[in-house]
Amino acid sequence: MRRITFILAAVLCLVMAAGAVAHAGKLEEIKQRGTLICGVKDSVVPFGFVDEKTNQLVGFDVDICKYIADKLGVKLELKPVTSATRIPMLTQGSVDLVAATMTHKFERDDVIDFSITYFMDGQKLLVKKGSGIKSAADLKGKKVGTAKGSTSEQNIKDAQPDCQVISFEGYPQAFLALKQGKVAAVTTDSTILLGLKNSDENPNEWEIVGDYISAEPYGLGLPENDSKFRDFVNKSLAEMWISGDYAKTYNKWFGKDTKYYLPLTWKMEIWPM
Ligand code: GLU
Repeated sequence: MRRITFILAAVLCLVMAAGAVAHAGKLEEIKQRGTLICGVKDSVVPFGFVDEKTNQLVGFDVDICKYIADKLGVKLELKPVTSATRIPMLTQGSVDLVAATMTHKFERDDVIDFSITYFMDGQKLLVKKGSGIKSAADLKGKKVGTAKGSTSEQNIKDAQPDCQVISFEGYPQAFLALKQGKVAAVTTDSTILLGLKNSDENPNEWEIVGDYISAEPYGLGLPENDSKFRDFVNKSLAEMWISGDYAKTYNKWFGKDTKYYLPLTWKMEIWPM
């Protein structure tokens, strides 16, 4: 009988301990684990891609993750995500945070939370030079490639209801289809298009055209209803901006001397500390 009581007490302790971890929230979970697990793209230059020389995942989104991991004083583990898998991977808990060229919009906010804006872009078209396509209006009756699970899929349908949208696993596959003449254009955020164009062997064969079809402010994807973790991430981003580390990182990937120049024309929303 004493033994059963002892076992019952032990089980009760374990259940209570598990409950404490569950209630402790992401911040405590990450600190206890000693690792921040971030979902990043692995084939989107210059946000998240494999450096051929080092075989490591690098990019602007990777550097944002590194900054937050350093703030937490933990190691960083990166897991590749696609536009379609990033939200499910976050809701299933296989990543703590998503830094993956993701626009924050209210529809997505139903299932996850977002940080403040940490990058700002808009959607354009990538076409073969001399194709005659200058804007979404010229895509009438034509095929357009993009990525599954992106805002780009819906935006192009709204901008040109008479085009056929073909959604690929990722943007490199959509670009390949453009090269093979299977689609007339690739559409997504302008810097992703710049990444495709300027990391190609023949960048001069391609051009980015049209006005912005949409505004695409990026937010870090965060677990739903964990305000302690969200506050920490937002404060880290604000500190990164105020300290000048953000500008350094931005210029490393999008500055004048890079192949992916995008002038910094917006300001992060900074609350007084
Ligand atoms: N920023 C857009 C989005 O969140 C397009 C880029 C992407 O597919 O990640 O869907």
